[in-house]
Amino acid sequence: LFVSKNGVKQAMPLELQQKHQSNSFTPISEKHLSAFRSMLGVTHVLTENEQLIDYGHDWTEDLLFMPEVVLKPNSTQEVSQVMAYCHAQLIAVTPCGGRTGLSGGMLPVYGGVMLSLERMNRIIDIDTKSLQITVEPGVITQTIHEAVEAHGLMYPPDPSSKGSCMIGGNVAENAGGARAVKYGITREYVLALEVVLANGDVIHTGAKVLKNSTGYNLTHLIVGSEGTLGVVTQIVLKLVPKPALEYTLLVPFAKAVDACKAVSAVFQHGIVPSAIEFIEKDALDFGQQYLGMNTYDTTGIEAHLLINLDGNHEQVLVEQSEALAELFEHMGGGEMLFASSQAEKEALWKLRRCLGEAVKGTTIYKEEDTVVPRAELANLLSYIKQLGREHNFYSVCYGHAGDGNLHINIIKQNMSETEWKEMLPKAIEKLFQYVVQLGGTLSGEHGIGYVQQRYMPIAFSSVELELMRNIKGVFDPKGILNPGKILNPSLT
Ligand SMILES: Cc1cc2nc3c(=O)[nH]c(=O)nc-3n(C[C@H](O)[C@H](O)[C@H](O)COP(=O)(O)OP(=O)(O)OC[C@H]3O[C@@H](n4cnc5c(N)ncnc54)[C@H](O)[C@@H]3O)c2cc1C
Repeated sequence: LFVSKNGVKQAMPLELQQKHQSNSFTPISEKHLSAFRSMLGVTHVLTENEQLIDYGHDWTEDLLFMPEVVLKPNSTQEVSQVMAYCHAQLIAVTPCGGRTGLSGGMLPVYGGVMLSLERMNRIIDIDTKSLQITVEPGVITQTIHEAVEAHGLMYPPDPSSKGSCMIGGNVAENAGGARAVKYGITREYVLALEVVLANGDVIHTGAKVLKNSTGYNLTHLIVGSEGTLGVVTQIVLKLVPKPALEYTLLVPFAKAVDACKAVSAVFQHGIVPSAIEFIEKDALDFGQQYLGMNTYDTTGIEAHLLINLDGNHEQVLVEQSEALAELFEHMGGGEMLFASSQAEKEALWKLRRCLGEAVKGTTIYKEEDTVVPRAELANLLSYIKQLGREHNFYSVCYGHAGDGNLHINIIKQNMSETEWKEMLPKAIEKLFQYVVQLGGTLSGEHGIGYVQQRYMPIAFSSVELELMRNIKGVFDPKGILNPGKILNPSLT
């Protein structure tokens, strides 16, 4: 096991190694490899060091955990065979999609098998009569968008990573994105699933219907379970008609808290944008630097709101834009920029979508995915700045403001390694306590995965956590499926 800091591979501290290695999983041997080769074919069983490193990390901080082997099945039957074998042999299995996760959900913290669903990337059916699409988990999210848009339809969930994340990963994380504010999150679009359980059994949940009151909702339980309850092998998604028009607006605010307050005022005025994103000055500066542009002057500006309005009637959108301009003028907003061409809209959204990479590429950081009731956004922002002054850290914030979902990047800067490690958990604990006090919770869309486990007791009572452990035990009694995730507060 290794941890890399800014690209430099280091041995993981002994104490952490011992924690991770104190498990009873069977190490992969030549016997197991030859069994996998006969199930999947030689080329779909990867064991080279470089390949293992490649599959040993996602986008979570600088963490790297090596799997012992990477397997690439091509069908539900192959997934089922692998799971049944690993179950019998007590081998840890971690599913992965596009490896863009931000909570370390796909990190193989106990080594074992990395089960990549990337070859299962077929669109099985687009039903333009019932507005549904059936896909395999390895389809890139943007590919789904493009495929259905060709039929005048829309699959709304649009994580900023849509060009590289996969729909199976979106289902496992219950991904959101900018359009969630109007259209909802992944869970609201999953109608039915095919899932391979830890012992290799194949189950089907839900149905191709828009309402379903038939028994416990296993579909909704699997969505957001981060690969800990089963491997998703097929997904039926709901689609909606694609609106004909979309306007994009950018509004500067001298005070960042005013921008936050303006977000809930928009909805109070009866307008539901299809996106309303908060971007702090430094995030925008990082983004522009990353893309090599200098288009938006942030002098004297603490934050921007990036807004999309969509619909089918030009007049309605014009009226809504005018109403927003007037509202923002009264709430501390500056002159509103109206993207006048498709190219300008795309440039603005490219800038928004690159913020994660821009911040991560520049510095050592820790990202939190806090979510609070929309009207509490200004309080959350003020609190994080106050916490920064108390603990001597600097933070850069942006996120899906319409959902009350703020991505808070705590930046290491010149802090020594010892100070950083001491400060971070204390500050995050205070942050989460405050978030829960506001009626919010730990993660809006990135999940708990590996890195947020220790904070779960802030959001849940021991009874609630025990219930979750029992659910895990029912699905995966031997604990081989994505072990070390969500419910292991002492592991990280
Ligand atoms: C630049 C950037 C921007 C992002 N923006 C957003 C955003 O706007 N909204 C958002 O919600 N997220 C965002 N994310 C986070 C990330 O893209 C999402 O969590 C995404 O859903 C992960 O998908 P993936 O295919 O990369 O999954 P992975 O990272 O490979 O895996 C994520 C989890 O899903 C499990 N998993 C994967 N496939 C399966 C399967 N078939 N069956 C069972 N479990 C499975 C894994 O075990 C793991 O626990 C962003 C990430 C980056 C790097």
